[in-house]
Amino acid sequence: MSRDRRRMRASGRVSAGLAAMAIALGTGSLAHAKIAVRYEETKLGELVKTAAHDLDPIIRYVEFNVPAVSNIGVVVKDCDEVNASYDPAAKRLTFCYELVRYLAQNASKLFANVPDVPDDEVGDAFHQGMFYAFGHEVGHAYDYLSGLMDSEDTADKMATYLLWSVKIDEGSAVGGLVFYEIDRADDEEDLWDEHTPDKKRLANLACWSYGANPEATKDLLVAVSERIGGKKGMERRAERCEGEWLQIKRFGDKAVRFKRSEIEQAEKAAK
Ligand SMILES: [Zn+2]
Repeated sequence: MSRDRRRMRASGRVSAGLAAMAIALGTGSLAHAKIAVRYEETKLGELVKTAAHDLDPIIRYVEFNVPAVSNIGVVVKDCDEVNASYDPAAKRLTFCYELVRYLAQNASKLFANVPDVPDDEVGDAFHQGMFYAFGHEVGHAYDYLSGLMDSEDTADKMATYLLWSVKIDEGSAVGGLVFYEIDRADDEEDLWDEHTPDKKRLANLACWSYGANPEATKDLLVAVSERIGGKKGMERRAERCEGEWLQIKRFGDKAVRFKRSEIEQAEKAAK
């Protein structure tokens, strides 16, 4: 099991992607910030509040790159449950401190049996979990604000696309792993009860990540399929993953104006 986890390690490229993104955005972008963010006080302590600010670069990225949602509001607050949600009437995305704590705990658990894991890998996994959860809610916001049919499926697709766009090829599945912490028993209370069963969603995320970059994520796909117990089914499905990913990419290319080539240029310039 620890071997699988080893293979599932976060790629670490998230930091590079975000750094490049910050460069591409330039310092002037903050002056044009439209997504209003409010961090409320929390009963969960300063560490959780500090960790929640991991959302700041993610929010700025979304604001800049997904014009359709650039005027929503974001509130980070105590909810007495592990949750995130989007309220279409108020155009407000709520991200709960309980979810921040949950993702931080899961990121640690993901590496619990791996010796000598550098802190930054746990941090990257946490970040990907946060990105996945936030990107999922952005997907809901995008659906409503674009007059599209809202669904859990398209919300997951938006999360996958956004993670891919910051060049985290393994990010979607890793983020999903952190989110679902799939070692927990199936009969435990579901996080978001309107969502399809965790294993199916996780299989989707692994498949789409694989479709986006088969070479980088083949091990991850195998590890996920071993973990969720659907190895044969995943092998059959793997053939369709590229096609499924291309559909997501078509959807995402319309929603997101930031082009990956610009990120790559910014990365080159940063070297
Ligand atoms: Zn949802």
